[in-house]
Amino acid sequence: MPKLLLLGGTTEASALASALAARGIDACFSYAGRVKTPRPQPLPTRVGGFGGVEGLARYLVDERITHLIDATHPFAAQISANAVAAARMAGVPLLALSRPPWVPQAGDRWQRVPDIAAALAVLAGPPRRILLALGRLHLAEFATCPQHHYVLRLVDPPAQPIALPDHHVLVDRGPFSVDGDIAVLQHHRIDLVVCKNAGGEGARAKLLAARSLGVPVLMIERPLLPARAEVHTVEAVFDWLAHTPPAG
Ligand code: NAP
Repeated sequence: MPKLLLLGGTTEASALASALAARGIDACFSYAGRVKTPRPQPLPTRVGGFGGVEGLARYLVDERITHLIDATHPFAAQISANAVAAARMAGVPLLALSRPPWVPQAGDRWQRVPDIAAALAVLAGPPRRILLALGRLHLAEFATCPQHHYVLRLVDPPAQPIALPDHHVLVDRGPFSVDGDIAVLQHHRIDLVVCKNAGGEGARAKLLAARSLGVPVLMIERPLLPARAEVHTVEAVFDWLAHTPPAG
């Protein structure tokens, strides 16, 4: 009998969890534990890190996991690299479920940078009014560019003071609408959107809003990951499961 471990924390992972539960497939859902109130899942759920590659490999063996699915965020580079290494170590087949990156369309005014350090270099200039849609983990890095007014969109209200002298917090977990994001850009007089190339529909609204208002976007591209099998739909995961013999 297959027994899956689903590494989650994304809309795609939640959609897969529902589909697995609906089909009665034995699976455990794993959250890192970053969000205070994670979305409840229709699968047995564990929360917290595994303890690096070795910890994850041990978990796979101890729990007799037959298939590992990495449906974490495209910017969660550490857990995805760990999953590749741990799956190899434990002899468990691995599949990544991810969303394709966004690509610029006619009318978009994107500047693409490879990482946050490169984004900060671009932001070294005069003050701007920035929608910073990056999540809370990287906010501290923007303290090196304190001259800007930052509008921060966060899932949880910040637990610690934010080290940006001029900021405004919007608490909202999305999905977001284009009309709603146009209103946000207009209300806060945003003249630059800074975001990661996460892909997906819910977070795309800010890009469509920026396009419709002619607002430029500083797009931080995805980190490089080790080679792995990867699909973009829940159906393709079931196809892979049907054709991939279990570990052990
Ligand atoms: P990360 O830097 O790749 O991972 C750091 C550590 O967190 C990992 O080494 C692992 O700890 C633990 N971890 C991450 N995902 C886990 C999971 N699903 N289950 C159990 N442990 C996990 O990850 P991150 O960028 O901090 O993201 C954390 C979580 O938030 C991910 O699950 C991701 O899907 C979700 N998320 C991230 C972003 C983003 O922009 N990075 C956006 C939306 C959602 P151990 O080494 O101890 O196993």
